[in-house]
Amino acid sequence: MKKTISICGLCQESKPLIQSHAIPHAVFRDIHRDNGGSAIIISDDRGKLHRSGKSGQDRILCSECDGRLNIAFDAPTINFLRSFRSELNSARSKAIGHFDNNVLAAFLMSVIWRAALSSDPMYANVSLIPSTKELIRGILTKDAVGFFDIASFSVRDLVDGSGLDGFDRHSLSSLVLAPVLQRHPNGKHSWQFAMVGFLFEIFIPRLSLLRRQDPALLRRGATVVRPSDLDIFDNQALMKMMMAGFGKHQRGHSILRDRVLKK
Ligand SMILES: [Zn+2]
Repeated sequence: MKKTISICGLCQESKPLIQSHAIPHAVFRDIHRDNGGSAIIISDDRGKLHRSGKSGQDRILCSECDGRLNIAFDAPTINFLRSFRSELNSARSKAIGHFDNNVLAAFLMSVIWRAALSSDPMYANVSLIPSTKELIRGILTKDAVGFFDIASFSVRDLVDGSGLDGFDRHSLSSLVLAPVLQRHPNGKHSWQFAMVGFLFEIFIPRLSLLRRQDPALLRRGATVVRPSDLDIFDNQALMKMMMAGFGKHQRGHSILRDRVLKK
């Protein structure tokens, strides 16, 4: 196999780089297995909504650094999200997740950071200013607990409130929204991405103390995750991508199309 020697994005040493994922490969593998080889992927590159067997990868890290992120953040987070998802999908009342918020926050930040380094088309519109990228790299190479100083993180449970005609939770779990920049009226911005039926949002810089009261936000040192419901049709990023996607997918889900166009 051809080896590419280059500068690793994390340790910054000159090493052979391997194919790394931003949104973990395991997420796509689960969906691909369930849906016979394709995931519903929504990403901002040319406004696409498509079923795809791709999982967005690029040579950005050496195998040691890639492995370190996988073991420290990706694997524990994906295991938690999978089991929390099946609990939420089967429970009648709202379940609460139990997971180290520091690990989840570091995972979320590392996804955005890896997406910004990646040149895969799925992450074409993800970019961070150099100082932010370096700040995140610095925290990732140390103990990864400083993320709550520079960002706030929220977790929402994707639902389709339109009743029987809508998406069931199982379909929503197989939707992947690549990170998109969300601009807020107050001039601030956040990154949003969706996987395993959750919408994650990262606010950089972090929210004001007042806005940090939202129970859906992660907290430093906390071990519970309390996602609030988010109707997919109330989310601008999902709506925009779906609208764009339907231009090219006329034979798509007609009920969904009707409802998207009505909004
Ligand atoms: Zn490295």
